[in-house]
Amino acid sequence: MRALTSTGLVGAMLALVGCSRPGVVIIGGGPAGLAAAIEAASPSWPTDIYEAQKELGGSAVYGDAVTAIPSPTALARLDAASGHANPARTRFVERVGPDVVDWLRDMGQGWRPVENRIEPDVALLTPDGKGASLIAHLVAAAKAKGVNFHLGSKVTGLVRGTDTVTVTLASGSVKARAVIIATGGFAGNLDRVRQRLGLGADVPLLRGATSFSDGNGIDLGVAVGGAERLPSQVLLYAHGVPDTDHPGAALMFMDGDRGWPIDSIGAPFNDMRSPRGDSGIALLGRPGSSGWIVLDRATLDDVKLWSVDLRDFVPGRIAGQAVGVHGDSAEDLARRIHIAPEALTAGLFLAPARPDAEHPLGRGRLIALPLRLTTAKSLTGLQIDLDGHLLDANSVILPHLYAAGEAAGFAHPWEAQHIDSTMVSGAILTGRAAGRAVARDLSTP
Ligand SMILES: Cc1cc2nc3c(=O)[nH]c(=O)nc-3n(C[C@H](O)[C@H](O)[C@H](O)COP(=O)(O)OP(=O)(O)OC[C@H]3O[C@@H](n4cnc5c(N)ncnc54)[C@H](O)[C@@H]3O)c2cc1C
Repeated sequence: MRALTSTGLVGAMLALVGCSRPGVVIIGGGPAGLAAAIEAASPSWPTDIYEAQKELGGSAVYGDAVTAIPSPTALARLDAASGHANPARTRFVERVGPDVVDWLRDMGQGWRPVENRIEPDVALLTPDGKGASLIAHLVAAAKAKGVNFHLGSKVTGLVRGTDTVTVTLASGSVKARAVIIATGGFAGNLDRVRQRLGLGADVPLLRGATSFSDGNGIDLGVAVGGAERLPSQVLLYAHGVPDTDHPGAALMFMDGDRGWPIDSIGAPFNDMRSPRGDSGIALLGRPGSSGWIVLDRATLDDVKLWSVDLRDFVPGRIAGQAVGVHGDSAEDLARRIHIAPEALTAGLFLAPARPDAEHPLGRGRLIALPLRLTTAKSLTGLQIDLDGHLLDANSVILPHLYAAGEAAGFAHPWEAQHIDSTMVSGAILTGRAAGRAVARDLSTP
């Protein structure tokens, strides 16, 4: 175990020998856990974050932390699309914008707008310095509040007592008056995704999320009586190309305008990365649950594919060499990937989705990269109320227990099917709610 602060080190040692006062334990040091810690911390009790990895930030340090702020028009559109008003979603989304962005701005985090090509009525903002900067600001704020950090410390069990919860770690156990489960989602756990979606081992599936997003914290919450809500909600995209260096993982092809995407029988699909996961559903409905993106050599040299495991982009030509199928002409390639030549050449006559994109076919040697269903996000988790209290199957509050962030299903604001990229904001918002509730509950005699 490594502690970041000297007070943290002392606190951890005392806690592990059972001498410390029971305080607040937060499991997981991603954006939800950090935000919860900032709100829960008080001089009246110790507040400790236990993080399984060697660094703080969870999945947020991997991405741009783009934050979506839907307009009232967008909310009305979502209501119309689903056929009913969703006041809870509206309330949630209204709080996300000013709350999360302004809260971080007050900590010194700058923001800039990002063009939203898919949903123009949803404003997108990205933090200057991306997710890593946002995490650095949250860590600084948590340190200033006296939060203790324990890195490389995985929580393996929870046991409810009358007034406390016993938290088990490899190095011993600690007692807490309040425990917040902020362990992230489960999209990195392919077995769990298969089981939740009822997919057999014959469906080709790749991991597009961090491997530590394995759902273990959801199991910790269920083991102490918590309920898991809507367990079959997982977003699948069709943009994964097998990563030969990391078996089971995806290299993600992000730019859907730079090739001709077709499924395994040659039918086209327009957006491999639909905000509703439509492309994943489209592939699931076809034999093989796989497809191809066809590029020419020049485009392959140009594109880069995102690797979660490397935290970096991989040049397209490396993926092309490793897993690409090469053909001298459209007809030759069609034969090699077992589709009708017309299916491939059909792409020659279609206008590209983006005006500045050139259609790749017809410019010499072609390469087809195999596209596989790729797990992106789990949209569900532990059932909580608006204050982050963990609920059982009858929606009764389980005392001393809370959950936040993706572990509580807040990858999306409550069944919003069209708004993407709202996860860091949802994590922070629900983390803050849980942290505030803990502070309130512990202050109430
Ligand atoms: C490549 C990539 C790009 C992304 N881009 C965006 C984006 O642009 N915009 C956006 O909003 N979101 C984005 N996300 C998603 C966003 O990062 C997550 O939704 C967010 O980080 C979830 O926060 P969290 O705190 O709930 O969980 P996490 O960030 O997953 O943190 C959970 C933490 O808990 C720890 N943990 C798990 N189990 C235990 C245990 N038993 N004991 C101790 N610690 C444990 C984990 O190690 C992890 O550090 C992206 C994610 C990825 C991978």
